[in-house]
Amino acid sequence: MMLTTESNGYDEARLGFQRRDPHRPAVIFPVTSTAEVEDAVRYATDHDLRIAVQAAGHGLNAGMDGGVLIATGAFNGVRVDADRKTAWVEAGATWRDVIEATTPYGLAPLSGSLPGVGAISYTLGGGLGLMARRHGYAADHVRRIELITPDGVRRNAEDDPDLFWALRGGGGNFGVVTGIEIDLFDVPTLYGGSLYFDFTEYPDAAEVWREWTRTVPEEVTSAVAIVPIPDIPPVPAPLRGKYIAQLQLAILGSGGEDLIKPLRAIGQPVLDTVGELSYAESGKIFAEPERPDSYRSRNVLLSDLDPKALATLPDLAGPDASSMSVIGIRHLGGALSRPPAVPNAVGHREAAYALTVLQPGEADRAEQYRTILEPWREITVGRLLNFTFAVLSSDELREAFDPGDYDRLLELKRRYDPDGRLLANHQL
Ligand SMILES: Cc1cc2nc3c(=O)[nH]c(=O)nc-3n(C[C@H](O)[C@H](O)[C@H](O)COP(=O)(O)OP(=O)(O)OC[C@H]3O[C@@H](n4cnc5c(N)ncnc54)[C@H](O)[C@@H]3O)c2cc1C
Repeated sequence: MMLTTESNGYDEARLGFQRRDPHRPAVIFPVTSTAEVEDAVRYATDHDLRIAVQAAGHGLNAGMDGGVLIATGAFNGVRVDADRKTAWVEAGATWRDVIEATTPYGLAPLSGSLPGVGAISYTLGGGLGLMARRHGYAADHVRRIELITPDGVRRNAEDDPDLFWALRGGGGNFGVVTGIEIDLFDVPTLYGGSLYFDFTEYPDAAEVWREWTRTVPEEVTSAVAIVPIPDIPPVPAPLRGKYIAQLQLAILGSGGEDLIKPLRAIGQPVLDTVGELSYAESGKIFAEPERPDSYRSRNVLLSDLDPKALATLPDLAGPDASSMSVIGIRHLGGALSRPPAVPNAVGHREAAYALTVLQPGEADRAEQYRTILEPWREITVGRLLNFTFAVLSSDELREAFDPGDYDRLLELKRRYDPDGRLLANHQL
């Protein structure tokens, strides 16, 4: 099936989660199989059109005008091999689809904060998940990748070690991925959730979290979000209109309650959702909104967290909710700092924290990025593309990778997509 601008369902098929600058394609192929992806790529090549791919649509940075949009949302099967602890994940599957398939076996993927995010793009971009400090990046646990390159050829990426290296961290730049095989992990339960502290009452909440991250084992993956909360439903009543430090916690194994005692000692949270969860409930940890929205963001990877700069963040980020930024800081290290068994393009394993400044809405507030990020410049080691919702310059893109790797990726882009037909959210 092919949709044109005149077809019923055109808008539904082109709009994803990110509503800022959506795709305006000439035609859309809503695919459900590898053969249909091949047809769509062939159509684009025959008509000399560009190609964009959209799964759940969280990662879109610049909409494509004209061209062929391959909408993979309904190509979302997941096959679990419980004995090998792997899953074959089709192009459009979200983490929710994967988790639903793996939960009956007590197995879990290396998914992230929001289950509605597309599993393929998340993984191609590295993939920083809820068990990241224990198991590393999602891209570190990919066994096979099948794709259709822009010349219309179906390939197994493992047959070319360069291509397999590039896809795991280098994003959707080299072809339309039709499926990947990923590792699964035994996770009967998680201890996790969020402690929401009112900043006005507990201005040192983020600092206590920073200190705490220096003491925790790899079983603990955590983050803090500094969020001015609007005074509107559906926000839970206790949070409305408050400036919050949300401590987001995911702890594997037993002993979680003891481990978080220093955080509970901060004081009385406005809301406390921490407890035992099944992995199927893991979306409750960050409790991010599921409704489509417009947003932009910038991210930096840091070698440390400077307590002085940390203390200034609440003032710089808000607290006026109409022009606010949401600041998220994730604790890295542990398995994230170790290279995977099969090398990949994920960069900057030396980073200790990832800091993201997210600006909701349609306005660009470049000045606000500058004021917030400037104090961190000296300890910035790179950037994480999955948390960057903006069109980056080539110099900025280069900073996402280890020295030399950006040029190697460019060389592979030229080899597999010499006409630059495939548009990725972070285009090489
Ligand atoms: C609320 C929220 C929470 C998030 N949490 C996390 C997190 O915890 N950890 C993390 O690492 N990231 C996280 N992300 C980032 C997320 O992983 C990226 O935005 C990712 O690109 C989203 O994938 P998608 O399928 O939803 O997006 P889409 O917009 O559908 O895809 C993004 C891009 O990926 C490429 N692409 C998609 N499918 C294919 C394919 N089959 N073949 C080739 N290229 C393809 C295309 O270039 C496309 O433009 C989060 C994002 C949001 C909005």
